[in-house]
Amino acid sequence: MDNDDKRPRFATRAIHMGQTPDPTTGATIPPIYLSTTYTQESPGVHKGYEYSRSQNPTRTALEACLSGLEEGEDCAVFSSGLAATNALLQSLRPGDGFIAGHDLYGGTFRLLEDVFRPWGLEIARAESSDPSAYEKAMKTLERPRMIWIETPTNPLVDLIDISSVAEIAGNNGSLLVVDNTFASPCLQKPLTLGADMVLHSTTKYLGGHSDVIGGALIAREAGQLESVRFIQNAAGAVPGPLDCYLILRGLKTLEIRMQRHCANAMKLAEVLNGLPGISRVLYPGLPDHPGHEIAKKQMQGFGGMISIELDDGFERAKTFCTSLRIFSLAESLGGVESLVSHPATMTHASLPPSERHARRITDGLVRLSVGIEDVQDLIEDINQALQP
Ligand SMILES: *Cc1c(COP(=O)(O)O)cnc(C)c1O
Repeated sequence: MDNDDKRPRFATRAIHMGQTPDPTTGATIPPIYLSTTYTQESPGVHKGYEYSRSQNPTRTALEACLSGLEEGEDCAVFSSGLAATNALLQSLRPGDGFIAGHDLYGGTFRLLEDVFRPWGLEIARAESSDPSAYEKAMKTLERPRMIWIETPTNPLVDLIDISSVAEIAGNNGSLLVVDNTFASPCLQKPLTLGADMVLHSTTKYLGGHSDVIGGALIAREAGQLESVRFIQNAAGAVPGPLDCYLILRGLKTLEIRMQRHCANAMKLAEVLNGLPGISRVLYPGLPDHPGHEIAKKQMQGFGGMISIELDDGFERAKTFCTSLRIFSLAESLGGVESLVSHPATMTHASLPPSERHARRITDGLVRLSVGIEDVQDLIEDINQALQP
């Protein structure tokens, strides 16, 4: 790949950014700084660290690395993805207008509807993945301040054209925030496509091993996270240093993991596409997927998430999920191990049924987070689980 700007390339940044050897010992890997407090030379004179709710060196290393990977200027990491979302929403004011994408993570939807709508946020929903739906929703708000999208979406794996929505946001004085959890910066860099901020649940692909919960906000411009940092320090949703270390360790293998996630998912999607008993296979790498062209334009790979619709609804979906041996029936995604979930009863159970149906999250819909095992084993596992 060309590298005109002379910065190290993605995989190199993922391993080294923010991680110079420890000045006191030469430790190559950033230490897990457990200290909650930092000794000052004289009152107010210190090395930039006072108290670990405000700053922590292991956290600083992770923030520098994530900023670099998303090509942003600033990053704040949190104790979970939703803690990051919450802090960003709290930086708005009651009466501000917020435009939500049509197919959002269930927890984001719940936070918006059950916490921030009662708090006074004016929320409008885009009705489809089409950019014009955002324009239309925007018009219903008096004071639009923020558009929030996920792409690819969860669980329907719809694609949204980031640069088109960024243009709409810019023309209306609104910020565009992209939840980039499904793609990871390895496959998609929203800030380079015009988005203002990126949100991550680092719990997923960035951590990559299903052993740590975390979140991050990355901003295109320095200073954009000032109010978010204020809220984080004032309210306290900080990640622990061990959590930061685990995510930093995960990032080192992000690129090779994503390559394998994509290759395995592509192969599996092709196999699933021809199987009896499956009425729909939703994967942006398939040429007949409605978002295929957008994915080719704005992503460097099609990702590791596939949703399938099984004939015969809930009973069939239940049998399939419980018959799999390598895929674990579990919430979450993005780890090295393959997972299967049933959105209607699991990740999206917090949505009211009317909302679920409006969003085509049917009882036969099953979501696969394709891991990095040998794909032949995954194919055989799916085949045996589909046997009547
Ligand atoms: C998991 C997830 C979140 C929430 O993150 P937590 O770390 O669980 O708080 C937000 N968005 C998406 C797309 C997710 O998958």
